[in-house]
Amino acid sequence: MAQTFTHDLIVVGAGPSGAAAAMEACKAGLRVALIDKAAFPRDKLCGGGITGRALGYIEAVFGPLPADLLHACGQVRMVAGAQEICVLTDARTPSMTMRLALDGYLRGRAIAAGAEDFCGNRIADLDLGRGVVRLADGLQVSAPIIVGADGVNSQVARLLYGRAHDPARVGFALEAEVSGPSSQTMELDLTAAPWGYGWDFPKASGRTLGIGGLAVHNGDLKPRFEAWLRAKGIEPATVTIKGHHLPFGEFREAPGKDHVLLAGDAAGLVDPITGEGIGWAIRSGQLAGQAADAALRMNTPNRALALYQASMSDVLRELRRARMLSKLVYHPFMQHRFLRVLARSTRLQSRYMSLMAGEMDYADVHLGRVLRIGFRILTGRGG
Ligand SMILES: Cc1cc2nc3c(=O)[nH]c(=O)nc-3n(C[C@H](O)[C@H](O)[C@H](O)COP(=O)(O)OP(=O)(O)OC[C@H]3O[C@@H](n4cnc5c(N)ncnc54)[C@H](O)[C@@H]3O)c2cc1C
Repeated sequence: MAQTFTHDLIVVGAGPSGAAAAMEACKAGLRVALIDKAAFPRDKLCGGGITGRALGYIEAVFGPLPADLLHACGQVRMVAGAQEICVLTDARTPSMTMRLALDGYLRGRAIAAGAEDFCGNRIADLDLGRGVVRLADGLQVSAPIIVGADGVNSQVARLLYGRAHDPARVGFALEAEVSGPSSQTMELDLTAAPWGYGWDFPKASGRTLGIGGLAVHNGDLKPRFEAWLRAKGIEPATVTIKGHHLPFGEFREAPGKDHVLLAGDAAGLVDPITGEGIGWAIRSGQLAGQAADAALRMNTPNRALALYQASMSDVLRELRRARMLSKLVYHPFMQHRFLRVLARSTRLQSRYMSLMAGEMDYADVHLGRVLRIGFRILTGRGG
């Protein structure tokens, strides 16, 4: 007997990627079940930096963000520990947000667009093959296509691959919120953590401070973070320190299987240089929602991954390029040479900041230019 589905699409996880998938599918007229183990509003450990690219993707799916969700940054200070590299007053900078508010807003938009709300309800059983989810309260939902947008520790990815991420390649970060007067200067400490960096991001009522990098190179992250905070005049005992994994460049080339799609952190879509994940979460969620709609229109739910993967080619190409460049920026042999060149070259400073702010794509970083920078790094020449 043919299975009767209660929905067209189940989205597991209602963070930025899940909200975008649900929103896009609702716009296409699909019946969407939006499931999250957390009740919203819920917080998510994050610097809250929203790049220009991320803002564009958010606007394409949800329309313009309410201004009170964003805090503008006027200038950037780049340092390497105690040494100042530069202060850029006219660079394009990311905007800042608090995830409690941003995620609550995006999820709310998806619900208002028609997604059925199953947030605040743990999953008791997830049968990917049959497309059936049983929730802890006994409710059951079913759909021919499932989007796993359930973050870096994705249950959906674990069911598909046996584990959500590779511990040898995943990132880890620690953060603390410090309340106080608002500022407009963001600070990046490019040597705060091996294969990573530190950030001091201004918010409307304080700052978000954090350091993070590839987990395998950062076994001592907690004492390192505490020392880093002390150097900034913050006594670690006076703040709450929290940690979270992030898939730092460990993305899936085929994000899912047949009728099961992975989006956002569940697919590993975090930039391995900047740590930016919100923009790619929104974009992949949007494309997953569109692929689900297209596959259902063709009456071939199992083609959803092929359609999704094809539409994701630009995103994956960008992340491949970023992964390659991350060796130039973070490899210990190259890093101090890179920083020497960065300190001398105002052009490189502004281009580096354009990448950090999502105003420039890695596709715009031409191989010839990278080789020239690499040569200058190796010979220690600025420009
Ligand atoms: C310390 C830190 C700082 C960062 N700073 C930035 C930054 O400044 N800018 C930036 O762009 N990115 C940043 N990132 C990355 C960014 O936070 C993520 O890339 C982004 O949150 C990914 O969105 P998502 O929707 O895929 O996943 P998430 O935001 O993690 O949402 C996943 C959702 O799934 C739900 N869920 C999980 N498991 C289940 C389950 N089994 N059943 C049901 N629901 C489930 C969770 O409750 C959650 O709501 C940072 C990450 C970290 C760790």
